[in-house]
Amino acid sequence: MRVANFNGGPGALPVEVLEEAARDMLDWNNTGMSIMENSHRTKEVMAMAEQAQADLRSLLGLDDSWAVIFCQGGASLQFAMIALNFAGPGGRCDYINTGLWSTKAYKEAQICGAKPRLAATSEEDDFTYIPDAFDFDPEAKYVYLTANNTVRGTQWKHFPPNPPAPLVADMSSEFLSRPLDLTHFGLIYAGAQKNVGPAGVTVVALKRELADKARLDVPSMLSYPIYIKNDSMYNTPPVWSIYVAGLTFKWLKNTIGGLAAIETLNRAKSEALYQAIDGSQGFYRGTARAASRSNMNVTFRLPSEDLEKKFKKEAQDEGMVGLGGHRSVGGLRASLYNAVNQEWVKKLIDFMAEFQRKNG
Ligand SMILES: *Cc1c(COP(=O)(O)O)cnc(C)c1O
Repeated sequence: MRVANFNGGPGALPVEVLEEAARDMLDWNNTGMSIMENSHRTKEVMAMAEQAQADLRSLLGLDDSWAVIFCQGGASLQFAMIALNFAGPGGRCDYINTGLWSTKAYKEAQICGAKPRLAATSEEDDFTYIPDAFDFDPEAKYVYLTANNTVRGTQWKHFPPNPPAPLVADMSSEFLSRPLDLTHFGLIYAGAQKNVGPAGVTVVALKRELADKARLDVPSMLSYPIYIKNDSMYNTPPVWSIYVAGLTFKWLKNTIGGLAAIETLNRAKSEALYQAIDGSQGFYRGTARAASRSNMNVTFRLPSEDLEKKFKKEAQDEGMVGLGGHRSVGGLRASLYNAVNQEWVKKLIDFMAEFQRKNG
């Protein structure tokens, strides 16, 4: 029996996508083999990767001024790739620190020899909000931010309006969850396993203009221009992960109807859950400031850690999993990624009311 999956990552995938992948498991595309057993140099596999890219472009509205590539090493390798390609030794770059993942990205830039600088941070208030005032360095090569903070449950509603350099954004935990105005962006990326597919592939979209400025003294597997030049097939790409992500892109496009449609669904889910939290007379307490709340990761606390433990255990017994907060902060977290459906959220809200009745 499938459970109501509120995992922070890897997260839930659409059941239609899993079913299609299962149907094709032993004989994909009349090749008599699983897609995992096919060579990535065949025209069938290359066509699959091209189709995945085309669907992604159509979802995000990316024209040819953007390159789309499939990398490995997770979102975490992008922390280094971005600094190595666009800053380099001594290169100046601005970071907006909104939690664990941007802190890691900042540190990684330092390790790569770049000179990252904080343009804003919400650390002084425990990362409970998204900053709206910035001290930008006019010489920065890029401005880095995390679009949705998986751990703290905060999300950008309006990105910085006048950055001095292209915005570079980690969109891992909100990728394809809402339409985006990409005017000021130079690069966006997402580890697949939060919202679009299996771990193993990181989807990167970058402006060709920015890619043209990449440094060339970078190891091949860390070089954006090499990925672009080789259609992400400089070496063996993570074919299976690209394939499943491609099925999710198709599902978003054809079954859901695109990013505006998924945003409406996502909003309905998170609004219902925040309402339940806010209406609990303080029994449930949201951890993020209201104006910065995430539509993807809803973080909250109970009056005691013992109750939180009990909550997780009883929810699990009722077929709801993944409700523990990130290990760095504790508490509770319901991740409402694209594949999490309205029924699961309703079930959780009903459970919360009942749990409060018994324990409040
Ligand atoms: C999960 C997560 C990461 C880390 O992803 P990996 O693919 O495991 O490296 C980075 N950034 C954000 C926003 C995340 O949610």
